[in-house]
Amino acid sequence: MSREVTIVHLYPSEMNIYGDLGNILTLVKRLEWRGYQPKVVNVGVGDEFDMTTADIIFGGGGQDSGQLVVGADLLARAENLRAAAEAGVVMLVICGTYQLFGRFFQTYGDQKLPGIGILGAETVASEVRMIGNVIIKSAWGELVGFENHSGQTVLDGAQDALGEITKGYGNNQSGRGEGAIYKNVYGTYLHGPILPKNPAFADHLIRTALRRKNATVELPPLDDKLEHLAAEVAKSRPQ
Ligand code: GLN
Repeated sequence: MSREVTIVHLYPSEMNIYGDLGNILTLVKRLEWRGYQPKVVNVGVGDEFDMTTADIIFGGGGQDSGQLVVGADLLARAENLRAAAEAGVVMLVICGTYQLFGRFFQTYGDQKLPGIGILGAETVASEVRMIGNVIIKSAWGELVGFENHSGQTVLDGAQDALGEITKGYGNNQSGRGEGAIYKNVYGTYLHGPILPKNPAFADHLIRTALRRKNATVELPPLDDKLEHLAAEVAKSRPQ
């Protein structure tokens, strides 16, 4: 099996706020520390790339203005991204990109940005900004992060959430769900960035991507004392 792992970074200029680039750095380092060769491919507006050839696709958060800039380009990639999702390509999309992986994001200025509909979700901006530290219960234990969004996301009844809020808002002000999962596509409002302080989730994404290439792959454990300490500090912070 090739040790090369292709990581696509979607719209690194427009959709990269609240430290979300740290997720790319985490994936790169946790792969390198295990002897793999991660190759990061930045895909901006107008760039040609077949997403079905990626191992991991990452899209960060962004202001409404950034979402307006990338929206049409993302729509043009919808069929290719849906094919990649159905093929099991691992994707992690944060906040503004997460919203555009649903059916639409309606801005506070009532501009309705169509999404690509990989996730069964719809988002409408509200006058309330949901800001603060977040903890969710997930299949990978408690995940910690930070949220800052006006978008209230509502999931379809059959759409799985990433986890359940125990601190913060999550998808919206009224429910307990946070994020969404479809096959190997993970959407979340957790900035922070999410991956450095949640190594079990980071390794789940890496392991899933590697197992698509070789079902028997194992990931040797890393010394995550610092990561766990950072997560405990984050959990101790007030809202
Ligand atoms: N602009 C979107 C909102 O305010 C997404 C924000 C973000 O990516 N942090 O909901």
